[in-house]
Parts: sequence; C-alpha cells; structure tokens
Amino acid sequence: MNATQSYLPEGLPIPTPETDGLSAPYWNGLKDGVLTIQRCKSCGGWQWGPEWICHRCLSFDMGWETVEPRGRIFSWERVWHPVHPALKGHGPYIVVLVELPHADNVRLIGNLIGDPRQTVTIGAAVEGVFEHHPNASTPHTLLQWRTVG
Ligand SMILES: [Zn+2]
Repeated sequence: MNATQSYLPEGLPIPTPETDGLSAPYWNGLKDGVLTIQRCKSCGGWQWGPEWICHRCLSFDMGWETVEPRGRIFSWERVWHPVHPALKGHGPYIVVLVELPHADNVRLIGNLIGDPRQTVTIGAAVEGVFEHHPNASTPHTLLQWRTVG
C-alpha cells in the first residue's frame, strides 16, 4: 500500500527529526514502511507525540514499538486556504486526526488521501499509506491515511 505520488504539491517544508533525535525512530520507521509509536517501558502507556518523559508515571525510560497503521478518524477539516505558497491553487485538501484504538487512542495528524471533496465521517476506519519521498533533498516518508471498508 505504498504511495507513489504525493498528496500535496512539492515545495512544502520537509519534516525531519529534531536535532536532539527524539522523533528519529518514528521517521526512520516510516522510511521502512513501519509505524512506530512511543511507549513507556515502566508503565506500558503509549504516548504521542514523542517526549523524553512519560506523562503518566514520569519515567524517562521511553521505548518505541511497532503498531499496525490502522485507526479511526477522531476529527478532520477540509482546508481551502493556502497556508503555504506551495499550496496556492491546490485546495481543498483534507487533514485528519486519527486515533489508534490499539495504542491507548494516541492521535496522529495526517492527510486523508483520495477525493478532497469526499464525505468524511467521524469514527470511520482508516489505514496508513506510506508516502515515500526518496528523491527529496532530505529523503523522507509521510504517513497519510485512507478510508477502508
Ligand atoms: Zn510511564
């Protein structure tokens, strides 16, 4: 289910791990077509976005685990305004907030691929689509979503 083209036009800022490397496991996993989410080694709680400390038990012993890129739409919006020059003339597009029921309902943000004017339903099942950009100045992969069923 790898994407061969990008949902949004070229020219947007490239997401990269912070210089402290905190989110590097996430970005490196995406390049391999794998979703990894931060999970506390002390209490087992899932956490997103990445933090150095567990928000439940305050442990600094945070790990990463692979999870199935399947979830449901928690919230969404259809964006018409070009918030970046590269998006002029490319609206609308859909931004979704996806929760992962099998990982404490942590929520990730992404795009809902397909028809940008499609009907979007809260709670709809979605699966991840790994959108690879191997030829970008900084090669990277984005995690997008599409409805299933
Ligand atoms: Zn914890």
